[in-house]
Amino acid sequence: MSENGIYDLIIVGGGPGGLTAGVYAMRAALKTVLIEKGLPGGQINLTESVENYPGFEEISGFDLSQKFLQHAKSYGLEMIQQEVAAVEPGLEFHSVRLGDGRHLHTHAVILATGGSPRKLQVPGESEYYGRGVSYCATCDGFFFRGKDVIVVGGGDTALEEALYLAKIAGRVYLAHRRDAFRASRILQQRVLAEGKIEILWNTVVTEVKANDKGVTAVALRDTRAGASMEIAVDGVFIFIGFSPNNQLVPAGIKMDHDGYVEADEKCETNIPGIFVIGDLRQKYAKQIVLAAADGCTAAMAAAICVEMKKAGGDCKP
Ligand code: NAP
Repeated sequence: MSENGIYDLIIVGGGPGGLTAGVYAMRAALKTVLIEKGLPGGQINLTESVENYPGFEEISGFDLSQKFLQHAKSYGLEMIQQEVAAVEPGLEFHSVRLGDGRHLHTHAVILATGGSPRKLQVPGESEYYGRGVSYCATCDGFFFRGKDVIVVGGGDTALEEALYLAKIAGRVYLAHRRDAFRASRILQQRVLAEGKIEILWNTVVTEVKANDKGVTAVALRDTRAGASMEIAVDGVFIFIGFSPNNQLVPAGIKMDHDGYVEADEKCETNIPGIFVIGDLRQKYAKQIVLAAADGCTAAMAAAICVEMKKAGGDCKP
């Protein structure tokens, strides 16, 4: 806890955005604490290989997250491993209530809680999660060595994970609901050149079937002809995008239809002193480098905000 019990800045979430905000906040001499309920690094811990973070031609997600963490720790960033129960805006101070009941007070808050995999919401999906249904090839691919799996989705994540699974599994079906991928051209080229991947265009999964040992098949529907079919698979890997983790966003903060928080160019929400960064913020693309950039922006803006509040003014000029 800070000396007078009041922080300058509380960062909620320890992914690339939150940790970068930590680096910039410490360099700006803000009394800062970062609160993370799980493993620092967030979603990138689940990524086998990162090839587009500048400065690293290829690095594992886990190694990159460790570098972010070590960098933030090198400035002595205080970290609390706890679930945050609520973020409560106030006029003088904002409050962050922890799962253990403690209240922390702060001039500024940066919300960096990211997002979670979107669900297909078909029968069998939640029932067989962990018994053949997965949202992380890096975590679970190992269990499907030589077996047949289906990947669902047509974005960067689906294609990257299909390529990863092709190195492990027997056959990889890739089911996409349209006849064109959304993923980047380079990933499309790699998928089309990978003989182990069979693309099922215009196809959706309508049910995951299983026995007492786990997944055995998926029911599919052709989105054009309407025909149904079933294929035998041992695993179903679902990568159909992602929903923002906006549960801690206080009432009154503006969000779009999809639940992403709207913020200005300083990453500040419509409540002064509450900033939002990374995948939780409404933006054009979700990338590690953009989350890090947001972390930088928000921490620099928070430093000005804190200075103005301490001088007796308002956070917004
Ligand atoms: P995404 O780009 O939103 O793609 C989601 C895919 O799932 C789309 O192909 C979409 O189909 C499909 N889909 C959505 N709902 C569906 C449903 N109910 N049933 C069947 N299919 C459904 O999500 P993402 O691939 O997770 O990527 C998220 C962001 O991270 C993107 O900005 C992406 O560029 C970025 N990313 C980048 C990298 C990289 O650069 N290395 C790696 C991973 C992710 P439609 O195309 O028909 O909408």
